[in-house]
Amino acid sequence: MEKLSEIAAYLKGKGARFADAREHLFHEREIMTEDNRVEQITEQDISGTGIKVLYNNGWGYACTSAGDMDSLRGAADKALALAKYADRSAEVPVELAAEPRHTAKFATKIKEDPFAVKAGDAVGALLEAAGVMLKGKDIIKAVSSLVLRNMRKKYANTEGSAIETDIFTILPEIEATARANDEVKTRHYLPAPMNAGYEYFRGIDFKANAARIAEQAREHCFARSCESGPATLVLDPEHLSLTMHESVGHPTELDRVLGYEESCAGRSFATMDKLNNFRYGSELVNLVADNTLEGGLASIGYDDEGVECRKWHIVKAGILTGYGVNRELAHKMKMSRANGTTRATKYSDVPITRMPNLYLAPGKKPLSKEQLIADTENGIYIEGRGSFSIDQMRLNMQFGGDAFWEIKNGKLTGMLKNVVYNAISYQFWRGCDAIADESEFCRAGFITCGKGDPMQAAQMTHGASPARFRNIMVRRAK
Ligand SMILES: [Zn+2]
Repeated sequence: MEKLSEIAAYLKGKGARFADAREHLFHEREIMTEDNRVEQITEQDISGTGIKVLYNNGWGYACTSAGDMDSLRGAADKALALAKYADRSAEVPVELAAEPRHTAKFATKIKEDPFAVKAGDAVGALLEAAGVMLKGKDIIKAVSSLVLRNMRKKYANTEGSAIETDIFTILPEIEATARANDEVKTRHYLPAPMNAGYEYFRGIDFKANAARIAEQAREHCFARSCESGPATLVLDPEHLSLTMHESVGHPTELDRVLGYEESCAGRSFATMDKLNNFRYGSELVNLVADNTLEGGLASIGYDDEGVECRKWHIVKAGILTGYGVNRELAHKMKMSRANGTTRATKYSDVPITRMPNLYLAPGKKPLSKEQLIADTENGIYIEGRGSFSIDQMRLNMQFGGDAFWEIKNGKLTGMLKNVVYNAISYQFWRGCDAIADESEFCRAGFITCGKGDPMQAAQMTHGASPARFRNIMVRRAK
């Protein structure tokens, strides 16, 4: 930490308005099995230091994989030179929101270090799950995987902050593929990805879920196609994780809203003139950003601008009320502080505004998933994620799913196939007329959310209770 603080002081002495140095270790192990064999085990350790400088109104960024003082000073000089160069053509004055000085440590609460456990332990559990799936009738492939991450950072800036973080992430997944009735269908089981220790992985019931998804993959092969037309949908938390990610999370990143970031379906309909007056969803819809959520994939304590992570509403009682905001854009919102959403994936990446943990708050009235379905006369119940697309303003969207059931007179009457639905983002959320209570709340999440040029893959948690959406245009995909 001393070296990083020294670099920040060095840059301040050279006239930088603001500078920070971030030592960043990214350690990842990925284990994948296919059928009864190990398909691959990969391990990567990527470490180095990124240095960011604001000189007058120009930003510069440079990095080095070497940790000695000469290399760090060399990278600092490079970042400063780039900032001076950028300043010559800077057209907009940079106003950085204040942030208190933090001297802090933050770590994921773990009992068992995942990287201290031999890869063979996880291989055993994954192959066991595969064995159960392969016993299923007409199963032709069983894939199991586990991604483990450890991200360790030290951060120091010219404001005197000195922050250390140590984050552990676990993402397990299994899938079964069946071939029958001239169809091939794959069904997934994704336990919630968590920032947690290996004890979390040990607690997952793969066996029961392996048998279930193998059976459902086969059943899907015999399902009948859905009818096209307006329908009522009941969506499970894992499915909703993708819809909220694409139609709420990305369009409320303020850099996209203001046109600073346009890659990957890049801009946003949720413009600032709509703040606090635009009906994004029905009155039941509360979408909460929370980077303090224990075990959340974006719960990192402090972000890569030295800002303490926090919780706020993106949508409150259906109205657009907030964005993900970095220190440079906070003044546009008349916010005195940013909300802790700026992250870089690796040391060589420039920190950018990233989606926070984002969840749909559960309904306040007691309502189980079974009661929600029983209360739905006709509709389609969808679990899991399938293919999706969304336009560049994040308005016109289309989603599939992993498995679909017909609801008739309040009962699930059999699986459907080839279901996709289209909607305009806010019309979809306005159609929400029931959300199950918190006893049904489940988490899901992503570790490969792409943004930026060059692309960075970030991670965040989502969550929801099953919810019902009225008058959504369903189409038969085949
Ligand atoms: Zn994303």
